[in-house]
Amino acid sequence: MRCPFCGAEDTKVVDSRLAGEGDQVRRRRKCEVCKERFTTYETAELNLPRVVKRDGSRVPFDGRKLRSGMMRALEKRPVSTEQIDAAQARIQRRLMSSGESEVQARRVGELVMDELRGLDQVAYVRFASVYRKFEDVAAFREEIDRLERQPTPEVRRKQLDLLDALEIKPK
Ligand SMILES: [Zn+2]
Repeated sequence: MRCPFCGAEDTKVVDSRLAGEGDQVRRRRKCEVCKERFTTYETAELNLPRVVKRDGSRVPFDGRKLRSGMMRALEKRPVSTEQIDAAQARIQRRLMSSGESEVQARRVGELVMDELRGLDQVAYVRFASVYRKFEDVAAFREEIDRLERQPTPEVRRKQLDLLDALEIKPK
């Protein structure tokens, strides 16, 4: 690789190690001519599929949009930035590894719901209620009941949290 400082034809790799979550290679390079050092990062080029919206229009996949949708659902919830990063990375990895050039917006929403369900029940229901546009109170109640049937105390605690956050008072 050409030296960005003096333009010399070749530079030498003096160190090479994994970076990021192991999906990048970081190389320290040294120019033999001007002796400057610099760093390069190498990543696999994987394309995210285009998103097919409900009306049939196609838009480029937008990681920031995905992120802001998740953040909205997770507002004021006890979920760390690291957990959100990891969830977003998993969603994008699944989309990239599908090898498809297009994906239905609905499918992206399902992937988000899968992740939120594991992170925080309140966020999950918030997202699902907007996403699925619960037809009526009965459909919403059904989802709450489904969550309530999950037996662990942890889930039970989250459940009470959920009713609280949604301002639904148990009868
Ligand atoms: Zn140089």
